[in-house]
Amino acid sequence: MDSKKFGFLTREVHAGEFEDELGSAVTPIYQTSTFKFKSADHGAACFSGEDDGYIYTRLGNPTINALEQAVANLESGYKGIATSSGMSAITTVYLAFLGKGKHIVSHNAIYGPARGVMENVFARFGVEFSYVDTTNLDEVKKAMRPETAMIYTETPANPTITISDIKALAEIAHKAGIPLVVDNTFCSPYLQRPIELGADIVVHSMTKFINGHADVVAGMIVSSEKKYHDMLRPVMTNMGCNMDPHQAFLVHRGLKTLALRVEKAQESAIKIAEYLESHPKVDWVKFPGLKSHPQYELAKQQMDGPGTMISFELKGGLDAGKRLMDNVKLILLAVSLGGVESLIQHPASMTHSKLSHEKKLQAGITDGLVRFAIGIEDANDIIADLEQALAKV
Ligand SMILES: *Cc1c(COP(=O)(O)O)cnc(C)c1O
Repeated sequence: MDSKKFGFLTREVHAGEFEDELGSAVTPIYQTSTFKFKSADHGAACFSGEDDGYIYTRLGNPTINALEQAVANLESGYKGIATSSGMSAITTVYLAFLGKGKHIVSHNAIYGPARGVMENVFARFGVEFSYVDTTNLDEVKKAMRPETAMIYTETPANPTITISDIKALAEIAHKAGIPLVVDNTFCSPYLQRPIELGADIVVHSMTKFINGHADVVAGMIVSSEKKYHDMLRPVMTNMGCNMDPHQAFLVHRGLKTLALRVEKAQESAIKIAEYLESHPKVDWVKFPGLKSHPQYELAKQQMDGPGTMISFELKGGLDAGKRLMDNVKLILLAVSLGGVESLIQHPASMTHSKLSHEKKLQAGITDGLVRFAIGIEDANDIIADLEQALAKV
């Protein structure tokens, strides 16, 4: 079932499933911290790697392993490493490749904490960074140094929905002999597979689309090849960034309907983006499925659909943004995305409120910007809720 000859939906349902002696249809929750060895020799063989038996859950567990195999399969990667959260996936990647005197070239509009932890924590350990607009390849090339150890991007990026060219960035990275890391959270492997486009490492907040039900926090790292996996895996296990078996079970259950959920929400997102673009109180809409998106063509090439994330600018700035947030009824006023429920948030007063005015502008966070994550409710109900809330702006 792990073979690529099966379609995405088939692999989504079956890939990675662990066959036990009882014939369980799905991988059970192995809620155990440790595993008994059959003998001293068996224990020794497990530790030396001669036997692939389980030892201790921080190092590996059948329920977690099933999910790692499933996501690696869907991402066309070599192997996956499940982590406690999306942020622990990202910090594991930073820790594996960066150190004193090393440098990272990264996107200026990535997920806030992925930049914050670099500027506030990794900087204390002597890591250097350049935050540039990775949609502009010249800026990326200019930022490269002999000590650059990684190019990092997120596409589409959060919350501006800018799109970076994965193939072109991979070429720049490979010319320098370093890996390209892509945060694929906003697309999920159903809509974009960065490794197929040349990326070396993919990170996910599985809290979002892969789990899809707003009830688990989780992360994943998928490597294109053994070399990278072998660098990453011990960092994750030694730092204790591991997932819990129950968490893995829930995420794996969510994964099985990924394509259905994304298809449905995407169909609504297209309608909602068009509705917003024609609304008199909306200045502009950023959605990769609209011709008005500056990277509409690139999105069509590297993504299998425009996704379910919409950003739009209200004409009335900060006040208009807050009024819209206060008046939605069906749509939840909450951060996060990729779940079955529609969520809306106002970056200037919420997720990005701690950034200085200058950094906000650099990251494209304007006062009236609204980030909207479309769920799987009826599109007409979502539009009706927007309509009544926009009437009060
Ligand atoms: C949510 C998110 C993260 C962080 O993931 P957690 O699971 O919350 O730790 C990283 N990148 C992107 C794009 C996200 O949306």
